[in-house]
Amino acid sequence: MKDRLGRPLGSLRLSVTDRCNMRCRYCMPNEEYVWLPRQSILTFEELARLARIFAGLGVTKVRLTGGEPLLRHELPMLVDMLRREERITDLAMTTNGLLLARCAEDLKRAGLQRVTVSLDTLRPERMAEFARNTRHADVLAGIAAARAAGFARLKLNTVVVRGYNDDELADLIEFARAQAAEVRFIEYMDVGGATEWSLDQVVSQREMLEVLSRRYGRIKAVVEASNAPAERFRLSDGTTFGVIASTTAPFCRSCDRSRVTADGTWFLCLYAERGIDLREPLRSGATDDEMAGLIAETWRGRADRGAEERLGIAQRGALYRIESLRADPHREMHTRGG
Ligand code: SAM
Ligand code: SF4
Ligand code: SF4
Repeated sequence: MKDRLGRPLGSLRLSVTDRCNMRCRYCMPNEEYVWLPRQSILTFEELARLARIFAGLGVTKVRLTGGEPLLRHELPMLVDMLRREERITDLAMTTNGLLLARCAEDLKRAGLQRVTVSLDTLRPERMAEFARNTRHADVLAGIAAARAAGFARLKLNTVVVRGYNDDELADLIEFARAQAAEVRFIEYMDVGGATEWSLDQVVSQREMLEVLSRRYGRIKAVVEASNAPAERFRLSDGTTFGVIASTTAPFCRSCDRSRVTADGTWFLCLYAERGIDLREPLRSGATDDEMAGLIAETWRGRADRGAEERLGIAQRGALYRIESLRADPHREMHTRGG
């Protein structure tokens, strides 16, 4: 099943909560937030049913996200339900790591295959200032626990923001290497929650590679065929890392991913203004076939290329002001799941 630009429905991000225990400045810079109403949050049964229906339409990769997914109680139970769907061959999670140490083993046992931990800085004082959380040691403990639990291909996500952590790229590569993990540097995006975004804070992929080659010498691109947004690179000693050029060189043309928020709103693009309400039909008795029909028809009409369209905007600034995020929290990055 392909959309209007020939892109298959391949990967799904399932947000399990819009709540978060961090306040990263590029995602949740404000004091107050409007949350999704509790009664609208999908149950594990509803999430698993949706995942099954999506799997029937071609989705093979599911990534649990949030807000902070580990704030959802009993998450391993959901993992266990999802792993029973054989068509989902890649079951992953993105987390800020704060609560990972206490549940990494349970998640692994339940069938989670891969974990990505967001780690923007190795300096606790920077995290305290930038993400309003002082528990940097817990994030590091979470990374160690994920490794000890046996998660293969552990990834670290770093959003690079000029003047905040752009002087730590090499340190993060070294840290990842020591943890047998791979770091992926993400360009700062002007997505929903990034109300303080400005172009001058974006460090481009090109600039990152220039800085790193001054330190490491020749950096080679890793040649691989995949729909993954990260371009991977290799240092002369074999260490690999990724760069996601989501702002300066977006990859919309091969984008096979969509997102379901914790209240069952389906977004065809990170930048889409509106989502499709799947909760209402789900709760009012639609059959699996009817749900699949709705999803298939919607996907076939998809022509979104949000990040590419943003490239064409002169005098580009933040996508939304806080008032419009308060009017509809579905526009928030922490609701859409990144
Ligand atoms: N709370 C979890 C975490 O931080 O890993 C999962 C949800 S978070 C929204 C998912 C990813 O989105 C994180 O890796 C985060 O760094 C990234 N993200 C959030 N805001 C971003 C922005 N403005 N630009 C680029 N990436 C962003
Ligand atoms: Fe940070 Fe993730 Fe929370 Fe956003 S959802 S504030 S990126 S930890
Ligand atoms: Fe996909 Fe939209 Fe992101 Fe482009 S901006 S890569 S279409 S989610």
